[in-house]
Amino acid sequence: MQLPDQQGYNDMQASWHAATASHVVQKLTSSRTAGLEGPEAAARLATHGRNALRAVNRVGWPTVLARQFTDVLILILLVAAAISAAIGEEADAITIMAIVILNGIVGFIQEWKAERAIEALRQMLQPVCRVVRSGVEQDINAEELVPGDIVLLDVGDHVPADLRLLDTVSLKIDESALTGESAPVEKHSAPVAEAAPLAERSSIAWMGTAITNGRARGIVIATGMTTEFGRIAALTSSLERERTPLQQKLGVLGRQIGLAAIAISILTALAGWIAGRPAFDMFMVGVSLAVAIVPEGLPVVVTLTLAFGVRAMVRHRALLRRLQAAETLGAATVICTDKTGTLTRNEMTAQVIWLPGETVTISGAGYQPDGTFSVDGRPIDVAEHSGLLRLLRGALLCNNAALQQKADAWAWSGDPTELALVVAAAKAGVLRADVPATTVEFSFNANRKRMTVIEPGNTATAHVKGAPEVLLERSTAILVDEAELALDDRWRQSILDAHHELASRGLRVLAVARRQLDAALKIDADTVEQQLTFLGLVGIVDPPRSEVPSAIQMARRAGIRSIMVTGDAPATAIAVAREIGLPASRAVQGVELQSMTDAELVAALEEDVLFARTTPEDKLRIVAALQELGNVVGMTGDGVNDAPALKRADIGIAMGIHGTDVARAASDMVLTDDNFASIVSAVREGRRQYDNIQKFVQYLLSSNSGEVIAIFVNVLVGGPLILLPVQILWINLVTDGMTAIALGVEPAEKKLMERPPRSPAARLLDRSAAWRILSLGTYIGLATLFAFNHLLDQSDPAAVLRAQTVAFTTIILCEKMNVFNFRSLHSPLRALGYFSNPWVLLAWAGTMALQVAAIYTPVLQGVLHTTALTPGDWLLIACLALPVFLVNEAIKRHRYRGNMDAGEAAC
Ligand code: ATP
Repeated sequence: MQLPDQQGYNDMQASWHAATASHVVQKLTSSRTAGLEGPEAAARLATHGRNALRAVNRVGWPTVLARQFTDVLILILLVAAAISAAIGEEADAITIMAIVILNGIVGFIQEWKAERAIEALRQMLQPVCRVVRSGVEQDINAEELVPGDIVLLDVGDHVPADLRLLDTVSLKIDESALTGESAPVEKHSAPVAEAAPLAERSSIAWMGTAITNGRARGIVIATGMTTEFGRIAALTSSLERERTPLQQKLGVLGRQIGLAAIAISILTALAGWIAGRPAFDMFMVGVSLAVAIVPEGLPVVVTLTLAFGVRAMVRHRALLRRLQAAETLGAATVICTDKTGTLTRNEMTAQVIWLPGETVTISGAGYQPDGTFSVDGRPIDVAEHSGLLRLLRGALLCNNAALQQKADAWAWSGDPTELALVVAAAKAGVLRADVPATTVEFSFNANRKRMTVIEPGNTATAHVKGAPEVLLERSTAILVDEAELALDDRWRQSILDAHHELASRGLRVLAVARRQLDAALKIDADTVEQQLTFLGLVGIVDPPRSEVPSAIQMARRAGIRSIMVTGDAPATAIAVAREIGLPASRAVQGVELQSMTDAELVAALEEDVLFARTTPEDKLRIVAALQELGNVVGMTGDGVNDAPALKRADIGIAMGIHGTDVARAASDMVLTDDNFASIVSAVREGRRQYDNIQKFVQYLLSSNSGEVIAIFVNVLVGGPLILLPVQILWINLVTDGMTAIALGVEPAEKKLMERPPRSPAARLLDRSAAWRILSLGTYIGLATLFAFNHLLDQSDPAAVLRAQTVAFTTIILCEKMNVFNFRSLHSPLRALGYFSNPWVLLAWAGTMALQVAAIYTPVLQGVLHTTALTPGDWLLIACLALPVFLVNEAIKRHRYRGNMDAGEAAC
């Protein structure tokens, strides 16, 4: 189905901005108030397609499959297969090809799984927008927008499609994403000249731009690639696919290993050949060595672990926008967090109203408008309290939240702080229906810390609410018992005292004021928000989240400092900090911070400090100072202006529920529940992933070095081939990969959050890791050589085959024992629990079963050049393999006990 007036739509494409709003609505056969009907919207979606900018970097399966066969090593193997075939060793050629293909398929499945996991995450990150459909306001996935949809815009929203504006309230939009112009531009619904250039079409809100002030209603005129944004740039705000520092480090390591592999292989093969060994044998030795040195499974295992990690993070209520964030989270040393909504529940209830002369208490909790008003414990008749009613009416007018009685319950929407005021007014019987609509709005934002609306009338009235000191600064009078008195120092002091008293109880305090406006007064924020008459204060309670105190404790034990950076008042912030167990002996206010030198800020950061009454710009400075001190900083944010600080922080954390689109787009991670405790869980998850990657990297390297040492020393001593290339491929690709993946899902170690954060500069393999890899590798190599030589009788081909099979199995069993060493880098297996990672046991059993099949089934015997082993052979192999685990475990236990004793002594 097409738009009913498709021709009209096409004709209008270039001139929506010049038509009147109602003409546009009519052309798009929509309704200003009711929007489109559901079926009509579905039909238009089918015609116009999804409102998406074509994904630029979606990877198709053929690319992923092709990627599996482009590795240099795979190319070496293909050459080896070709040479084997050319000299008549068809069986070897076929086996090598089969393993290469099998490896490719396994790699493809794993990588494809990882791609899917990332794609699923991309879906979760899709922006939602607020629309009116069938007369009902609802949130929908922005990709489902169609021309004719009525969209509601608010501060911090990204414009989800090109919109012709229908109604605006003090709307300002940052169009820098489109035009490069950084100053926000004013927008309204009046038509503009047809010839106006893009930047001057003030009746249009362009897709991808951001609302910095006010509100608006608009109708969609273009979606997806037909929008201006779609035409100019193919930009997605999806998960970025850059390689993480760890992947880069592994890439470098991989290249180094690759080069070493080629050099060692060529040198060894040449040396053997010069010493008179057959050329083909030496060629095979070279290929075996190359295959042995390179840990083929590594890149796939890393990608898969990161992808599983992304899913695990989702379970911890953290959506990663960049894979990199998981890794950085593991190294975090400071988390700077908002208060409202992150440490507290953001469920606001107005509890106290301070009026000049008396303090009124309101009962009830939550958003049900059931509660009574009392003074000094005695209920009062609100109808007789004109001062109280005036304040509540002003607070209700200067407000965008809504409370509605539905058939059997109350429904609410909007900012919780504002909602608390609407509910308080409703408790006093003052309802939205009783107050007139306002005309002008100067919106609240974290910098202004106030909001103003204008109520029209014979004498227009401005109603203002905001942070007490901000309103106090702009007030010249106070209303006391219907009399407007000058706001002298005495009154100022009483207001400040009352504010302090309420804030020290942890309440969030808002002041309410008003101003009668002369008809001649210029209507702009600076002029109107002056000479106010102060009405009173409202104290709002916002209980802390119950899980936060333990999360703060956990962070502290993990060497991570939590710092509160809030827009709220210092006394409120300190009171809340005490309640949740956040050490805070001093509150630095935004203004104080701005006058501090960098050195003073650094000195302040050495104390138990929190930051209050900050603006988003202050956050940027705090992040920079903390980074200067060598910290890895996580910073939360939700507003439009938080974007620079979120970008600057090592981990920008945006709020999923209360955050704006702009903050989300600037972040590395989005919290789906806005909860501080989720950040700490995500840090734990990040540490676990890094730990596990280290575990399997070391595991694979120590196993591979065992193979290299066995082959290399064997060539030196002039023995026949100890391990054939196909056997090494089998070990590295078929059996080791499986076990390494199982290590990647190892659960978090018990003491994971009791270790200090990892230094971001730390090398992937430190000295102790290198030592561990070499010592284990040497043992595995020498044990294999011993087994081989023990049974070798060069005059008997059957004995050579048996010795080779024993060597092959010894190395596999040694590596299988070795996996238990790497379930933890620190604690003995006993402390972890033998069965705490069933995947390792499953992989272990699976690979052992495969090895038994490799030795006893005739087909695999032919393919892998093996022969059946006797129980005596198995006994020898077991005796050689067991120490790989037992000795290491004994050393770990000894150290572990030492550490525990030291820990107890320290206690
Ligand atoms: P945090 O950064 O911890 O989330 P916050 O949400 O408490 O802090 P802001 O939203 O910046 O901080 O609010 C700062 C102050 O502005 C509040 O203490 C309150 O006095 C005032 N305020 C908050 N919301 C509004 C609003 N909707 N209208 C007017 N003033 C408000």
